Amino acid sequence: MTNALPETPTAARLVIVGPQGSGKGTQGVRIAEALGIPAISTGDLFRAAVKDGTELGQQVKAVIEAGDLVTDALTFAVVRERLQEAGDGFLLDGFPRNLGQVGLLDAYLAERDEPLTTVIELGVPRAVSIDRLAERARQEGRTDDTDEVIANRLAIYERETAPILDVYRDHGLVDTVDGVGSVDTVTSRIMGALARRGIATQTAA
Ligand code: AMP
Repeated sequence: MTNALPETPTAARLVIVGPQGSGKGTQGVRIAEALGIPAISTGDLFRAAVKDGTELGQQVKAVIEAGDLVTDALTFAVVRERLQEAGDGFLLDGFPRNLGQVGLLDAYLAERDEPLTTVIELGVPRAVSIDRLAERARQEGRTDDTDEVIANRLAIYERETAPILDVYRDHGLVDTVDGVGSVDTVTSRIMGALARRGIATQTAA
C-alpha cells in the first residue's frame, strides 16, 4: 500500500455510486466529459430501450416502472457490450448495483487485466435525495419518480447497493465525496479526489 502519486497518468476506470437523487447521473456525464471517457449509465440505456420499444425495452419496462432491479445477467450483457466498445477508460453510473454485479464486473475486468481505478461514492442525506427526486419528477415526469416507486428504489439502494461499497472499501478503492452543494462545487470535489489518485483531466496543463 502506497500513497505516492504515480508518475504516469492513471487510467480512469471509474464507478460512481450514490442513492437516487444524489446527482450521480449529472456528475457522471461531467466527469466523463472532462476525462474524455464514455459514461455508461445502465438507467439511461434501459430508459432509451424502453422509449425506442426495442426487445430489451420490452423486457425491462415493467421492472423499471416498479423501481425493481433488472436481472444481473441482462444488465451485465448491456454493460459488457458497452465496455467492449470503450477504450481503456470508462465511467460506470448505476452499475454495479448489487454484490452479484460486482462479481460479474470484477471477473470481466480481471480477464482484461484492467481493474477499476476508483469508486466515487456520492454522499447525500436521505432528505436531500427525496427532495431532488420530487423536483425531478415535476420537471422530467419520469415514470419511476412517483412517491411509492421512489421509496422502493431507495430501499433497494440501502439493502442491495450500499453493501457493494464495503467490498470496494476493503480494496481501498472508495473516495467518498460530499454531494451537497452546487453542481460545479461537487464536480470540483470529485475532480480533486481523482487528481489525488493520479487521474488527470485532458485539459490539465
Ligand atoms: P437509475 O437511472 O440508475 O436510477 O436506473 C433506473 C432503473 O433502471 C432502476 O430503478 C432499475 O430498474 C434499472 N437499473 C439501472 N441500473 C441497473 C442495474 N445495474 N441493475 C439492475 N437494474 C438496473
